[in-house]
Amino acid sequence: MTRPADSHCPYCALQCAMTLTPVPEPVAAVPEPVAAVPEPVEGTAAATPAMPPAAPPVTIAGRDFPTNRGGLCKKGWTSAELLRAPSRLGAPLVRGADGALHEASWDEALDLVAARLRGIRSAHGADAVGVFGGGGLTNEKAYLLGKFARLALGTSRIDYNGRYCMSSAAAAGNRAFGIDRGLPFPLEDLDGASTILLLGTNVAETMPPFIGHLAGAQAAGGLVVVDPRRTATARLTDDGKGLHVQPAPGTDLALLLGLIHVVIAERLVDEAYVATRTVGFDRLRRSVASWWPERVQSVTGVAALTLRRLARRLASGAGTYILTGRGVEQHVDGTDTATAAINLALLLGLPGRLGSGYGTLTGQGNGQGGREHGQKCDQLPGYRKIVDPDARAHVARVWGVDPDVIPGPGVPAVELLQSLGRPGGVRALMVHGSNLVVSSPNVEAVRAGLERLDLLVVCDFFLSETAAMADVVLPITQWAEEEGTMTNLEGRVIRRRRAITPPAGVRDELWILAELARRLECTAAFDTDPERVFEELRLASEGGIADYSGIDYAMLDHGAAVFWPYPRGSVGTPRLFADRFAHPDGLARLVAVAVRESARPRPGDGELTLVTGRLLEHYQSGAQTRRVPELLDAQPEALASLHPATADRLGIADGDDLEVANHRGAVRVRARLTTDIRPDAVFLPFHYGDEQAANLLTSDAVDPISSMPEFKTNVVRVIRLADDVGDARLTEAGVPA
Ligand code: SF4
Repeated sequence: MTRPADSHCPYCALQCAMTLTPVPEPVAAVPEPVAAVPEPVEGTAAATPAMPPAAPPVTIAGRDFPTNRGGLCKKGWTSAELLRAPSRLGAPLVRGADGALHEASWDEALDLVAARLRGIRSAHGADAVGVFGGGGLTNEKAYLLGKFARLALGTSRIDYNGRYCMSSAAAAGNRAFGIDRGLPFPLEDLDGASTILLLGTNVAETMPPFIGHLAGAQAAGGLVVVDPRRTATARLTDDGKGLHVQPAPGTDLALLLGLIHVVIAERLVDEAYVATRTVGFDRLRRSVASWWPERVQSVTGVAALTLRRLARRLASGAGTYILTGRGVEQHVDGTDTATAAINLALLLGLPGRLGSGYGTLTGQGNGQGGREHGQKCDQLPGYRKIVDPDARAHVARVWGVDPDVIPGPGVPAVELLQSLGRPGGVRALMVHGSNLVVSSPNVEAVRAGLERLDLLVVCDFFLSETAAMADVVLPITQWAEEEGTMTNLEGRVIRRRRAITPPAGVRDELWILAELARRLECTAAFDTDPERVFEELRLASEGGIADYSGIDYAMLDHGAAVFWPYPRGSVGTPRLFADRFAHPDGLARLVAVAVRESARPRPGDGELTLVTGRLLEHYQSGAQTRRVPELLDAQPEALASLHPATADRLGIADGDDLEVANHRGAVRVRARLTTDIRPDAVFLPFHYGDEQAANLLTSDAVDPISSMPEFKTNVVRVIRLADDVGDARLTEAGVPA
């Protein structure tokens, strides 16, 4: 292939547009069909020596597009490095009797997986087999994975890592609006805003081209960033461009209840809007009566005057947007916190009004599409409920099966992982697009669960920390080597296009699922062509909430701006809620929510609140970005950010070796002193594995509605390690094998 291909970045949900131009490779430089196995990892043995580094086979250029306007961040610019990375897997690996992983042919690996799955299923029942998907999978893969689980495996035990990412915002959106589309308006609408309230999102680091859309609000002095850290995004408010509000970690809900209180008390409510477009106001009003600003100040640390000024600014006229991110959502009360943000927006009359709105910023590349087509344990394609008889009948017709064949609801991600290897739990797990032992909460418990399994199968490009534990590793294609569709943070459906031929030893997951389905003697059809899978997805989604039936590859290839819902014969829906919300009566729900004092433990004497988050250079578990030299060089290890006053109290200097610990585990990192963090908190990035995995410390307690774990606020102690202990720390702990 030599023609440039217009595609999108492999990483986050901004899905920046890029053009991939193949670089002609001299014949001698073309890798052997069986590519390298990475350097040995504990518990494994490399079957072949590592390949020498090869130049990327494509060049990358940013492409003009409404979301990124030609810009890319350094993750996007360097993404081609991974296509010929020396540690890329190039053949299936099967764990041998010696405990090491050895190369195998595809037939050997797939025959083995199918035989083991059959045996486990017949001995323990279909629900003894679990599937764990990912928000980075294309729509076609996510759809086929859900179908594979229900029909080829017959299991209800499927869920995905979007449970860690978007589930609270999704639950809040469904509850209030009757639909879950992260941004119910095109991103460009933000350009005309005069006030933007960003709650718990650090877009300047996670999706830098996004900040171009904040310029209007900055110019109007109306960018407001709520974050316990003074992040790069918070600094965008400097010089009169807005306001940084720095509440105590875990108090976002109280802050929002206080804002709602002020809006009601000062008669800032859009009464006509509330009367005609919502239900539930009286109950909401009563629920916030006691959250007067001075009380909120005592809980959050945010001055009452600031709260009042902020409420007035938000209500000051047209052009106000409220956007939430994981910082306020990844909590045991994340659904209620996102709900409070929506309540605030509804009281101000923002959703559905041109030039204003509420939205949540999806994180993973296909975090939106990945939560629409059947990877969730309670869901069928088109965002249909798996318990709905009409939904089951519709999807069964498309699949050519009896509705009774489709299993009922399974269990959400954390519960699924807690069941691994337990009596009555999952005994075989297939993992697609997830690095569980870095990204899951309480990862030590997840590791133990994976070790209890009878069979762990991981599809990945690299020997990630999770793949290194697998019985079978199946190497798969990367984004530049495959066709498909993604749905970005706006609900815009876009095309991923193949620019280069994949290495001979890797396979597309559509092919893998089809081959396994055949070996499992499943009679349902499993197509391997992405366009034909999308055609089936269209039919399966037809009439559902996320209706893709009017979308096809041809219109995407012609550059149409395509936003779901897009029923057959329609023109799609760039802006939702203009006339009605998605509940049957067309009205939005104002839902009264309350602070649960017992929701999370508070730090005691000598303890700090651990805040976790992302860095500019890395993406999610770092399984990919830690393998890009430029990104790894910039951020080679996790550092614990501490306020100098806190460090002084604990006898810690910049660069000291630390142990950050609680009853779940301990992390060994170096100290980084900064006034960007509150004195009552410590920050750790979550991109690193092994002894630097921040999720060793996070709780697997979950939100009762969304099943989102508590990632953001956990109680820890920080201890300076004696020099001899610090020296024994793994060198380059952040560097992947
Ligand atoms: S902002 Fe996101 S989509 Fe854009 S280049 Fe960076 S990682 Fe890729």
